[in-house]
Amino acid sequence: GKTAGKKRCQCYSADVDHKNCREFLLRSDMQKALAEGQFVVHYQPMVNLHTNEVLAVEALLRWEHPICGMVSPAEFIPIMEETGFIVDVGKWLVEEVCRCHRQWKKEGLPPLKVSINCSSVQFAEESFVESIQAILHKMGFDPRHLIIEITESVLIENAKKVISDLQKLQEIGIMVAVDDFGTGFSSLSYLLTFNIDIIKIDGSFIQNIPTNKTSTIITHSVVNLARELNIKLVAEGIESLEQLSYLKRFKCHTGQGYLYSKPIPQHKLIEVIANKKCE
Ligand code: C2E
Ligand code: CA
Ligand code: CA
Ligand code: CA
Repeated sequence: GKTAGKKRCQCYSADVDHKNCREFLLRSDMQKALAEGQFVVHYQPMVNLHTNEVLAVEALLRWEHPICGMVSPAEFIPIMEETGFIVDVGKWLVEEVCRCHRQWKKEGLPPLKVSINCSSVQFAEESFVESIQAILHKMGFDPRHLIIEITESVLIENAKKVISDLQKLQEIGIMVAVDDFGTGFSSLSYLLTFNIDIIKIDGSFIQNIPTNKTSTIITHSVVNLARELNIKLVAEGIESLEQLSYLKRFKCHTGQGYLYSKPIPQHKLIEVIANKKCE
């Protein structure tokens, strides 16, 4: 029960919905989970809104827990950030992405760009850039195929190190994307300080098109802002044809969302890409 406390929590499969129990399980199982291969990467296509051609894929971490089932990253990423384990799993993810990329090549698919999410805890590591570089080198992965997504919060925390890290990553050809654009607390001023290649406007704006007039206007304005600043734009979370038609009218050319595809495992992605299009 609730009074048992986290330490003495006894978890049986019927019990694991209990929030504390579940969190305790997840917290204590991470190292083992990585060793046992419980983590998998799913990929969500980013598509050309006019041709449906897949331009890139976003790598999203999944945890197939033997008791809890499929656990959402929204649940386990914060714990990993808190414990620092995100650093280890982040390195594993880059390796896994390289392995998948090699497989796509073997199957004769075009060299897709892959986008990965990095949190501020990963940037806090002294040798963050070097470790990414070392993995890409070891795996024979062309850095020009990698995109690193960071949220606005990464840009505020430890700005000096982040600026210099991003610069080093960009020097070897990696692209930098600002994720969840518009939801952070910072001002637009970081567009002056950081050399951003891609803006991903948050799905919460897209999903309110056209019902919410403010969301619709913000989306249109961000599309124009990105174009004027010569930054690529991706609309996240497109779910309906109506949203799509507004985005096209706003001259937004790239997007991702359930309308095209949910994040899917490697073997399914190969099918989708082999058919050239995401429909
Ligand atoms: P995110 O980076 O903003 O990723 C987009 C999330 O929106 C994904 O959730 C995706 O499944 C979901 N999504 C995509 N299209 C739609 C749509 O049309 N409608 C709706 N309602 N949702 C859509 P997911 O995979 O559960 O990931 C949640 C968050 O967890 C990610 O948000 C990201 O911040 C974090 N995350 C996932 N993988 C990693 C990782 O490897 N490292 C780090 N640091 N964070 C990760
Ligand atoms: Ca992302
Ligand atoms: Ca996002
Ligand atoms: Ca998000």
